[in-house]
Amino acid sequence: MNEENKLREKICNTGASLYARGLTFGASGNISVRLDDGGWLMTPTGSTMGSLDPAKLSHLDAKGNLLSGDKPTKESFLHQVMYQHRDSAKAVVHLHSSYATAVSCLQCQNTNNVLPPLTAYYVMRVGKLPLVPYYPPGDLNLAKAVGELAGDHHAVLLANHGPVVSGNSLDSALYATEELEETAKLYLLLNQHNDQALSPLNEEQVKELEKRFGSS
Ligand code: ZN
Repeated sequence: MNEENKLREKICNTGASLYARGLTFGASGNISVRLDDGGWLMTPTGSTMGSLDPAKLSHLDAKGNLLSGDKPTKESFLHQVMYQHRDSAKAVVHLHSSYATAVSCLQCQNTNNVLPPLTAYYVMRVGKLPLVPYYPPGDLNLAKAVGELAGDHHAVLLANHGPVVSGNSLDSALYATEELEETAKLYLLLNQHNDQALSPLNEEQVKELEKRFGSS
């Protein structure tokens, strides 16, 4: 099997795994992987991640023009801006997963970094997570807003919508997305205990992690 076909299989297996675990549902969410020629493969519009067909994935060039396969989703520009602003990005995962989306619907104290550094793995895999203002799906202002943050952040949270996470491989984008979802869940669980203050990692502990493991 050539490299591209392996990636096609991997996208479909990843989609099925996300679907089986309830991290995506219906036809929501999308995954893409960048190819060596700068083009990328992406889950098509209207498809459910539970049963993707490797042969029907949208194959786009670096500018987002469809080369083959089914039509891409109107959210394909979220992936395109991540690739444009991050040379190291090889894959992008965008979900409407419940806990991260719930957090995206809260009034945010710090739009530069939505979630506190609750655990070391969150700091290492996600880092700082800015909130992107709300725009309707497919609105080009959303692409512009994500583009403005993508150079400095591999993960962003779209207000009233969900996370967009890139990585230097599909696995790393996937693991960061899962870490974000679990941390959003922890955050919401902890917020139910208003009688006890949160105890996230402090600034010094976060800096130490960034020094040891590199900033996400
Ligand atoms: Zn979406």
